[in-house]
Amino acid sequence: MTLKIAVLKESTENEKRVSATPETVKKYIAKGFKLSVVTGAGLNAAYLDSDYINAGAEIFDNADKATSDADIILCVQPPSFTLKSKANALLIGLLSPYNAKDRLTAYAATGLTTLSMELVPRTTRAQAMDVLSSQSNLAGYRAVLEAAAEFPRAFPMMMTAAGTIPPARVFVMGAGVAGLQAIATAKRLGAIVSATDVRAASKEQVQSLGATFVMVESDEVKQAETAGGYAKEMSDDFKQKQAKLVAETIIKQDIVITTALIPGRPAPVLVTEDMVKSMKTGSVIVDLAAPQGGNCALTKVGQTVEVNGVKILGFANIASRIATDTSALYSRNLMNLIGILVDKDGNLALNMDDDIVKATVLTKSGQIIHPNFQ
Ligand code: NAD
Repeated sequence: MTLKIAVLKESTENEKRVSATPETVKKYIAKGFKLSVVTGAGLNAAYLDSDYINAGAEIFDNADKATSDADIILCVQPPSFTLKSKANALLIGLLSPYNAKDRLTAYAATGLTTLSMELVPRTTRAQAMDVLSSQSNLAGYRAVLEAAAEFPRAFPMMMTAAGTIPPARVFVMGAGVAGLQAIATAKRLGAIVSATDVRAASKEQVQSLGATFVMVESDEVKQAETAGGYAKEMSDDFKQKQAKLVAETIIKQDIVITTALIPGRPAPVLVTEDMVKSMKTGSVIVDLAAPQGGNCALTKVGQTVEVNGVKILGFANIASRIATDTSALYSRNLMNLIGILVDKDGNLALNMDDDIVKATVLTKSGQIIHPNFQ
């Protein structure tokens, strides 16, 4: 049986990414799939309808026509409209399952089997499907460029006939996937970079990129990491020590990139209003945790706030600002996941004993089956 994949045009405001690029369309077709793409799906990410046609896809002028006989429907964010689909079709995307009971119930009611990409486990086998990493990596890179564009000075030290320009000082808070890429990018631009995290394991990674590691000395950091490699919420005592250290560090910085997250909890507030006010006029904070509440107390999601000449950038969707590349990686992540959902004869075969499938399926056979979202 030939499986049909439909690629939606994103319906969320400011979402420029697309869930299949012409490159992946070509690969799907080589594997025996049929592809339906909604017209203009890739346009905001610089992929033209003609590129999809050349790759072998059929273009449809609306979502209903593309999805009505599709076996698999791909998206970036949850569609804001009701899908017209076959019973048991798969919908795969970043489905934002947290606090979304009504939406999940609606998916179940229509019989859709839904898979949420943000739930792909961070295991070695699932690395090629790990959208959190692929998108965070580019977000970290882009955050530094956004900061550099707002910063009224240069990043590298420049020795010119007219005098010397000192290098910018960049402080990265949270040295996970996004933070490490931010450090590498700021270093490449010639800044003096320092970084902090609560996970002791990140020290070596930060230092290997040529940045200085700034960390609270406490036995608590030995237990700061979960078995999954994520950070835990720290004690009040630790938070006080960290706030003192951050206050002492931040006053000397020009650029602060914050990326600190704790899974399933609001982002920790690490930069207070007083800390912002202690920074020099012209300094820039890019808060990558803005969509999760922000690491800076003054962040407003989707806005640039200016306090005492310090700009705080709280992008709602920074991955969309580098949409060609984030789409390319996201599309490959999806294709790699689909690779384990199809058997050798090209039929859909969801193996609920597979740890990746089990972790990502939200709804199936008319019910919400994921234990975390029932
Ligand atoms: P994340 O986005 O959940 O958080 C970003 C960073 O913020 C983390 O490094 C975290 O420790 C840090 N943080 C949290 N609270 C903080 C606080 N109060 N102060 C300072 N920093 C704080 O993390 P992530 O980027 O998704 O990566 C988390 C871990 O998962 C890392 O160890 C990473 O190497 C690992 N990982 C593993 C795989 C894999 O094996 N396939 C893939 C990706 C990431």
